Amino acid sequence: MIVIGTIELKFTNGKGTFCCPQCEQERTYRQRTRRLFLTVYFIPLIPLQTLGDFIECTTCRGTFPVESATLTADQLHARKRQVAGELIRRALVAVVAADNVVTDEELEVVCDFAHRNEQPHITREQLLHETTAIRYAELDALGYLRHVASQLTKLEQETLVYHAFLAATAAGDLSPTRQTLLAHLPAAIGMPEARFREIVSRAVNHN
Ligand SMILES: [Zn+2]
Repeated sequence: MIVIGTIELKFTNGKGTFCCPQCEQERTYRQRTRRLFLTVYFIPLIPLQTLGDFIECTTCRGTFPVESATLTADQLHARKRQVAGELIRRALVAVVAADNVVTDEELEVVCDFAHRNEQPHITREQLLHETTAIRYAELDALGYLRHVASQLTKLEQETLVYHAFLAATAAGDLSPTRQTLLAHLPAAIGMPEARFREIVSRAVNHN
């Protein structure tokens, strides 16, 4: 019986320099193509379809879409800011959805944050849909905030805490569910309590 199979191989088909999203510095990259081969007795013999190109940083070995090769440092930072802004917005939605009352004032805080952070398309209606979806999914808000915070810089985490407090208190009193959520937040995201208190007092003075 003849043993036939397929294998995916990667080939380098170019190189250059780019601003690596992971190293955040000018680095060299290799452009690589993934291609499927037909194997006979485990030996790749016949090239089949290509599975697409990607680029690989030769320093950190991170892999990125080909478009990343042409992004300038400014464009890269803008993109990172946008990603962080979206993550924070989703975390704020989770805070708003954490108890069963969603008010206009709360949605307004999140909407305002989104508009000032490169998400001009966000509407209150969309945010309301998102809170409903989260409540249906019975999302663990604290776990979600921890997950989001792990993808943010320290400064972005502070922005998250500040706006989480604004959103949680937008309608006046802090409900017991949200009190619990905010009380556990510093430990969950690894922020010193003293720093947390500073940010919360800044948010209180804002109101
Ligand atoms: Zn790199």
